[in-house]
Amino acid sequence: MTGMFQRRDGRLFAEEVALTDIAEAVGTPVYVNSANGMRQQARILQEAFAGQDVRICYAVKANHHLAVLRLFAGMGLGMDTVSGGEIARSIRAGCPPDRIVFAGIAKDDDEMRLGLQHGIYQFNVESVEELHRLDQVARAVGRRAPVALRVNPNVAAGGHDKISTGRKGDKFGVPLEDALEILTAADGMEGVEPVGLHCHIGSQIVELAPFETAYQRVIEAWRAIRAGGVALSRIDFGGGFGVRYQEPPRFRIPDYAAMVKRLTAGLGATVVLEPGRFLVAEQAVLLTRAIYLKQTADHRFLVLDAGMNTLIRPAMYGAWHDIEPVEGGRGDEAPTEVVGPICESSDFFARGRMLPRLEGGDLVAILQAGAYGSVMASDYNSRPGPAEVMVDGSQFDVITRRRPVELQFEDEVIPRWLG
Ligand SMILES: *Cc1c(COP(=O)(O)O)cnc(C)c1O
Repeated sequence: MTGMFQRRDGRLFAEEVALTDIAEAVGTPVYVNSANGMRQQARILQEAFAGQDVRICYAVKANHHLAVLRLFAGMGLGMDTVSGGEIARSIRAGCPPDRIVFAGIAKDDDEMRLGLQHGIYQFNVESVEELHRLDQVARAVGRRAPVALRVNPNVAAGGHDKISTGRKGDKFGVPLEDALEILTAADGMEGVEPVGLHCHIGSQIVELAPFETAYQRVIEAWRAIRAGGVALSRIDFGGGFGVRYQEPPRFRIPDYAAMVKRLTAGLGATVVLEPGRFLVAEQAVLLTRAIYLKQTADHRFLVLDAGMNTLIRPAMYGAWHDIEPVEGGRGDEAPTEVVGPICESSDFFARGRMLPRLEGGDLVAILQAGAYGSVMASDYNSRPGPAEVMVDGSQFDVITRRRPVELQFEDEVIPRWLG
């Protein structure tokens, strides 16, 4: 067990609250978030970068809940957003617009206008086409958009093919060698103000080397563009810091901060960082109840009330999550297929996981569920999405109510002609 989720007298706790108490009060499946865990992660970054000109913008997509955004905004963090909806959420949660970065592969006119009207800190632009569009929209609104151009440093990194974003064939950003020409052109546009370069090479990166290689390339280009007469003042290195799933990352944040400091020394640039997973992944568990233990001739299936509609990472990325019985179990450990109730073979959490014998009714915690977990939940199979709780010391609150199936019906319309 790690961090804010510890076992006491055999029972699992989130901070000072027993998970059994949460299951009783709220039902299952439920995501249990640790407020102090999130604060601790933010502080690790803030302390590592103290004294450096660094802005930490939480990547909202990792967990966009208003309570999570409120917590981080209250600690002085900015927000890294990828849609108009995330900008709206960030503002609703109390983040000042001048701390909001708007990234994402395709922003439509309405989203651009929303960002412009609020006067956000920066637009991370991903293509020449988008740059021209932003210029047009900004002139129509009568604003000038601060722009960081997302470049592709051609570095392979990231814990999985689906979350690697900085290789030449990936859809993100423009080739590094085109940046000078594009930003020089941007400098002459009335609606945009080129302020920096941006890169984000992938997610769940567990070593320093790929970051360093990419940043060196981006810094070299940044210097060349400055020398070419474009007054850049910022450099945005994205996010992607790995967390512990099965194995801990092979670097620590202070080492990363020292590397950034060394590379950017004397540059005169404000550094922007966009960590998502690092801030939240290990700070929530998915609390679920076993419905059955199904024993076949050669397999033991533990069927949970959470499924791929609750946490899709194992099905989508083959991701590992630690799985723990909340109150221990019975007998020796044996290989167990931990699966959900959804009618898909990919609906599993772990295959052949060594677990003690559990039975229908037993509570199970799926760990490291805080990033890309509840945000990807759905009502698939008409199973209501999970409830969410936030624990803070000895208090907890429901932060997302369980949505009864009748609420799904409310958004659906049967056309009149069907009678
Ligand atoms: C997803 C994303 C992030 C956050 O990545 P993490 O791996 O969660 O830190 C940051 N920046 C951009 C542009 C992203 O798309």
